[in-house]
Amino acid sequence: MRAKIVAGNWKMNKNAQETESLLAELFAKLPDTEAEVIVAPTFVNLATAVSCLENSIIQVAAQNMHFAENGAFTGEISTDMLLNINVDVVILGHSERRSHFGETDDLLSKKVQTALEKNMRIIFCFGEELEDRKSDNHFGVVESQLKNALFSLDASAFKNIVLAYEPVWAIGTGETASPEQAQEMHAFIRETIASKYDSSTANNVSILYGGSVKPANAKEIFSKPDVDGGLIGGASLNSDDFIAIIRGI
Ligand code: PEP
Repeated sequence: MRAKIVAGNWKMNKNAQETESLLAELFAKLPDTEAEVIVAPTFVNLATAVSCLENSIIQVAAQNMHFAENGAFTGEISTDMLLNINVDVVILGHSERRSHFGETDDLLSKKVQTALEKNMRIIFCFGEELEDRKSDNHFGVVESQLKNALFSLDASAFKNIVLAYEPVWAIGTGETASPEQAQEMHAFIRETIASKYDSSTANNVSILYGGSVKPANAKEIFSKPDVDGGLIGGASLNSDDFIAIIRGI
């Protein structure tokens, strides 16, 4: 059975003290859940997060990484640095990385390769822009993002990959894809993987939905058969909201 996952992407929010208090709240309030729970604070607070969550089932993820092992890459962070502080999950391909920092499918393919070589687990984000959806090209865009960044991998690599479908028009906008739109795309993603690989690979990969998931809409979105949880931005910064979303699984 594939994993249900709720992951919080904190983006460039929360200083060290705020990180500690939010994690303490999550630790105290976390209900029994069948979902894996993951939080992704900023790089500078990852080590703090790992130590705050030592006795918790909540996992810690990085929001990005570089594909090289080390070297002259000012401002970048390597997989070894993450693993060294016990962070073995990384978000790659977030639309903000793609749009503000020029991350291309080619670059992401290199990052994916490195993360897998180092046995890291990847939450791989992708999704169409508003114009793509308006011009009915959303399936084509999603298919090419998957193909360009992931489809040179062997099927076995998907054991360490979680997919996060995040339509760009729904991220941080308050506009959510309807549960039906999410289900339609998730089913398409699964079919695309089944036709490239096989049905077992497709059925075993978790596909998260991301884009303005809130306590009010989480349960309905998560109830769709091909939606295995969510990648949560804004609402993961408040413990009550994040916990309510986890309860929606
Ligand atoms: C995200 O950044 O991955 C995200 C889904 O953000 P939000 O929930 O704020 O739309």
